[in-house]
Amino acid sequence: MEWRDRARQGFREAFGRDPAFVADAGGRVNLIGEHTDYHEGFVFPAAIDLRTLAAAAPRADGRIRIRSGNVEEVRESSVDVLQPPGGFPPWWAYAEGPFWALREARVPIPGADVWVRGEVPLGGGLSSSASIQVALTALGAALAGQALPPMEVARLARRSENLYCGVPCGAMDQVASACGLAGHALLLDCRTLAIDPVPFPGPWALVVADSGVRHAVAGSEYARRQQECARGLAVARKAFPEVRTARDLTLDHLASIRADLDETAFQRLRHVVTENDRCLQAREALKRQDGSALASLLAGSHESLARDYEVSCPELDLLVEIGTGLPGSLGARLTGAGFGGNTVHVVDGEAAEAYREALFRRYRDRTGRETPMRIVHPDQGVRCLPLATGE
Ligand code: ADP
Ligand code: MG
Repeated sequence: MEWRDRARQGFREAFGRDPAFVADAGGRVNLIGEHTDYHEGFVFPAAIDLRTLAAAAPRADGRIRIRSGNVEEVRESSVDVLQPPGGFPPWWAYAEGPFWALREARVPIPGADVWVRGEVPLGGGLSSSASIQVALTALGAALAGQALPPMEVARLARRSENLYCGVPCGAMDQVASACGLAGHALLLDCRTLAIDPVPFPGPWALVVADSGVRHAVAGSEYARRQQECARGLAVARKAFPEVRTARDLTLDHLASIRADLDETAFQRLRHVVTENDRCLQAREALKRQDGSALASLLAGSHESLARDYEVSCPELDLLVEIGTGLPGSLGARLTGAGFGGNTVHVVDGEAAEAYREALFRRYRDRTGRETPMRIVHPDQGVRCLPLATGE
C-alpha cells in the first residue's frame, strides 16, 4: 500500500473519519560530522526510508487530540493553552510542540485530530524525534492553509524540539528529515544552513545496526559536552577574538592555547575541528566514489568520538570493529549522539545483504543481543498532501 493510503487508514482506524491531509518525513542517518551541528559546523546526513507517517483533520473547537501508533496514551489539549511542559520531555511534547511552534510563528492553526506512526526506531539515534516533528509541522501548516518550504518546516520543528521539548539540539536532524533528496546525502553547513546535495554512489549501500543499548547518561553527557566546549571556547576567544564558535577554530589555534586549556576541553574541541575537516573530505570521497578514502575518514570519526569526545560505548565499538572486518566494508562509525543507538556502515552494494547477516550473527554471538540491522536508502524529505474525501 502507498504511504498516503497507509496514513489515511491509520487515521481512519484512530478517529473513524477521513483525514484532510497526510504527511510523512524521513528518519535520518548521518554519514559523518558528529557533534558538530551545535558548533555551527558541517554534517553529512541523509533522510532515509524509515519514516514517520502522519495524518490530520481540522476540528472546529480548537482542541488538539493526538494518537500515536507507537504509544497507548491519547493526548488531548487545546491550541491556545499549549505550554512547554518542562523537565524530561514526555512523548506528546514531540507531537504537540510543532503546533505550539506554528502558533508562536503566528500560523493560524485550528484544532485538529492528529494521528502519527513512526517506523523509525524511537530513541535509536535515527531521529524519530525530528521525523515526527517535521511531519506534524508540515501537517499543522497545511491545516492552516499554508505550504511551508522544507527549510521553514525544519526551522519550526527545531524550535519545537529546542523550546517545547527542551532538547538543545542543533539543526542537522530537522534539516535532513525535511529537506532530504532521494539518492543523495546532504552536506549541510550548520552556520549558513546552505545544503550541498551529493549523490550517494549507486554501487554502494548503507546498513544501520542497532546496538540494542540506550545508555541513560546520554542526555546529561550531551549537556556536559556543550559546557566543556564552552569552557574551552572562552579561553580561545580571549586569544582569538574572531572565533565565534568551535567551528572557527583550527588545530593551530588549539596548539597555541593548549597550555591554557584543561585536557578535557582541549580534546572536545580537537574533535570538533578534526571532525569538520573529515566531513568536508568525505564529501570529496563520495563524489570520487573513493571507498578507501571514505573508510579511513569514518574510522577517524569513530576514533575521535570514542577518544576525544568520549561518546561511544563498548557495544558501538564492537559493531564498528566487526563491520570493518567484513567483506565489502567501506567504513563504519557510530551515528547520532552516541552512548548506544546505531552504527552506520557503508558497504559495497553487492555484499550488503551478506554483510548485514554476518554483522547480525557475529554481534549476537559476542553479546547475546539480537538487534535490528537494516539496509536503508537515502530518501526524500517531508511530503504533505491534501486528501479529497472519499478518494
Ligand atoms: P531519536 O530522535 O534518536 O529517535 P530522541 O530521544 O531524540 O531519539 O527522540 C525519541 C523520542 O521522541 C521518543 O522517546 C518519543 O518520546 C518521541 N517520539 C518519536 N517518534 C514518536 C512517535 N511516532 N510516537 C510517539 N512519540 C514519538
Ligand atoms: Mg532525536
